[in-house]
Amino acid sequence: MNITLYGAAGDVTGSAYLVDTARARVLVDFGMFQGGKGIEVKNVLPSGLEPKRLNAVLLTHAHLDHCGRLPLLVRGGYEGPIVSTKATVDLAGLILRDSAKVQLSDAERWNRKRERSGKPPMEPLYTAEDVEKTLGRFRAIELNDIIPVAEGVTARFVEAGHMLGSASIELTVEELGKKKVVVFSGDLGPSGMAIIRDAQLLESADAVFLESTYGDRDHKPLQETLAEFRKIIEHAVQRKARILVPAFAVGRTQQILYHLDELFCAGTVKPFPVYIDSPMAIEATKIYQKHPDLFDEESRDMRRACSIAAQHDHVKPTPTAEDSMKLNEAPGPCLIMAGSGMCNAGRILHHLKHGLWKRDTSVIIVGYQGEGTLGRQLVDRAEEVRIFGETIAVKAQIHTLNGFSAHAGQTELLEWFRPLARSKPKVILTHGESRGREPLAACIAKRDGLTPVLPIQGDVITV
Ligand SMILES: [Zn+2]
Repeated sequence: MNITLYGAAGDVTGSAYLVDTARARVLVDFGMFQGGKGIEVKNVLPSGLEPKRLNAVLLTHAHLDHCGRLPLLVRGGYEGPIVSTKATVDLAGLILRDSAKVQLSDAERWNRKRERSGKPPMEPLYTAEDVEKTLGRFRAIELNDIIPVAEGVTARFVEAGHMLGSASIELTVEELGKKKVVVFSGDLGPSGMAIIRDAQLLESADAVFLESTYGDRDHKPLQETLAEFRKIIEHAVQRKARILVPAFAVGRTQQILYHLDELFCAGTVKPFPVYIDSPMAIEATKIYQKHPDLFDEESRDMRRACSIAAQHDHVKPTPTAEDSMKLNEAPGPCLIMAGSGMCNAGRILHHLKHGLWKRDTSVIIVGYQGEGTLGRQLVDRAEEVRIFGETIAVKAQIHTLNGFSAHAGQTELLEWFRPLARSKPKVILTHGESRGREPLAACIAKRDGLTPVLPIQGDVITV
């Protein structure tokens, strides 16, 4: 069989692998390219893909860089199933519907510019209608079931520990009388992440497509980060501070809610109001609550043991803009979690504008802040920042916590790969920049005596 890489080859977005066997064509993930100027030109249907000829699409998880181009397939005539776990069906619905809104507003913004320069308008990448048609093609499966997906191809999804519903996919392909196993790691989570279970290990394969986002380093241990988090919260509560947490709506928000619950349950901190100030985060949290079967033991134990966690009395969703505005008057101690995670858009901007210049505000940065974002300026200790055209002095306490990651670090990637390495598979490092995948390749070469392939977009791997 031939496997063509249509993205995430030398970078971390746009995941897409076409598996072309003697009898079937199966696509694994079809993600959007994100970040970086001018990247949108890469968000197309590649000419070799031919949606009408595909037999099945398999989706590892709901992040946009894995599912974001799926509506292009359906618009291009794809009529087969999109197979994923139940939680991924729910979360992909949330994320793709939001993406259609973003596509529309991007197109409107470009078209205002185009109109002024006398150019004809352009269409959004896809519409809400395309997304609904795409969601209609989803088929939910259970983790660990072996499912026939196309002629001579079965798939097994196993826990990847990266976000709710995330999976690695083990594909068994029978062609010309031979059986071959290809594993797609998908994005792998770190061990011990809140709420969800650790990634499941796989035993043997002929080829492994391994993610390498953090192939060059280990994260700070989560326990250290949590100890710091506890201190910051305790101190902020003593000061009756208003705590602002910029957080991504899906994943990080629920992780932080969980860790707050831990503090409240243990009696370390007296419960205070926690506002989820993002319609998308509110919906994502509901989806998390719908799938307790995917939770890890610790999370289930806490739900059983602690009535606060079960009732979420202290958690207050603020879906409307009006609710959000009222938070300007909410007294401390309180915590407001809002998007965007990098402070470059969304409701968090309003809260930062109203809070940064006050000494009794605490800001906790819990995620990566890209170059050029407001979040990065805060991490870099800017004395003043610009928000909505206004200069705002930064008098608030700014805390940066680096240990909340949804990705495995180098040691965890190597440990996940260890049992598979024994079967001496062809190993292909994807979903990582050179910085991440070259050091990981060197570790695998040294430990396992294998020579990983570092493909670029358009490369074809023969298994
Ligand atoms: Zn992901």
